Amino acid sequence: MPLVPLYGHERLRERLAEAYARGTLPASMLLHGPRGVGKQRLALWLGQLLLCDGEGVRPCGKCSQCRFTGALTHPDLRWIFPRPRLKDGDPSVDDVRDDYAEAIAERVANGGLYAPPSGSDGIYVATVRAIVRTAAMSPALARRKVFVIGDAERMVPQEGSDAAANAFLKLLEEPPADTTLVLTSSEPGALLPTIRSRVISVRVTPIADAAVGEFLADPIVKSQLRSDSSKTPMSELIGLAAGAPGRLLASASLREATQQAQRLLDAATSADRAGGYRVAFGQGAARARGSFTDTLDALEVLLHHRVKSGVASGNERLSAGAAKALEVVERVKEQASGNVNPQLLTAALIREMSTLIGSRQ
Ligand SMILES: [Zn+2]
Repeated sequence: MPLVPLYGHERLRERLAEAYARGTLPASMLLHGPRGVGKQRLALWLGQLLLCDGEGVRPCGKCSQCRFTGALTHPDLRWIFPRPRLKDGDPSVDDVRDDYAEAIAERVANGGLYAPPSGSDGIYVATVRAIVRTAAMSPALARRKVFVIGDAERMVPQEGSDAAANAFLKLLEEPPADTTLVLTSSEPGALLPTIRSRVISVRVTPIADAAVGEFLADPIVKSQLRSDSSKTPMSELIGLAAGAPGRLLASASLREATQQAQRLLDAATSADRAGGYRVAFGQGAARARGSFTDTLDALEVLLHHRVKSGVASGNERLSAGAAKALEVVERVKEQASGNVNPQLLTAALIREMSTLIGSRQ
């Protein structure tokens, strides 16, 4: 599937392309602006531009570099973003690489669209170490290499590894001549000050309504927004997007996580075995859009409601059961950050919850 193209940001694209042509493009920069405005897509576009060999307007979309960057398979365009923590212990550079290969394949399958990171996703020290290591190597195919580091405020500091953190700061301060680092953040205030002081900030502003309209008319975007949004008039969607159309995708994935959590809860309370397994297997398919952790976060919200309504109505059994179920969800969340299959975890979760809040209780 092709990536959804970058819509809008024409002026900024011109400025960046001119800076690159003049040789004044900063080697370490931070694109900051509202969530959903397209900062990571813009950073990838810039990476495509920097690696393009074509003549005329770049990225040309035709040269061999562009073919690889366009499919996000170019070894010199690295896309880093928050991920669930890999299994306990100390993942190797190869583990990190495999994890990102899988995550990026998932994003490519969605046309490059994705939901915002969930609460526990981060850019952990093993990933930082892998970035530093790769930056020290020569480019594989192109003349340069570009690192796009999305939601950079999720970089987890130190964790007892000053060496990796310091090496990354040094990399930001003085990247090799063939390396460009593009960080993005919707919450630049949350960035580590040591990182903020080493990058040139570039503001990414909301895009025009016309560009939002083009984005929403893109067939891949349409398929991701799903039925309930397609009933909303275009003018209303454009208004909701407020120049940052990725917001609409975020709310779609949040809605989906809530729906999946509700299905999970229904399966547990109805003690319907077959239904429970269907939900568990559905979790595998739902993974691409909104991670398992998002479903668990949403499930916690639903269970909190149950505790409250139990307390309010004096139904002690209801509130106590839901409170215990919350503990189970907490434990599953921890397990989910390891390498456990979400389908198995979901099946076990439904089973355990049904003993606490099921209809037979
Ligand atoms: Zn090209």
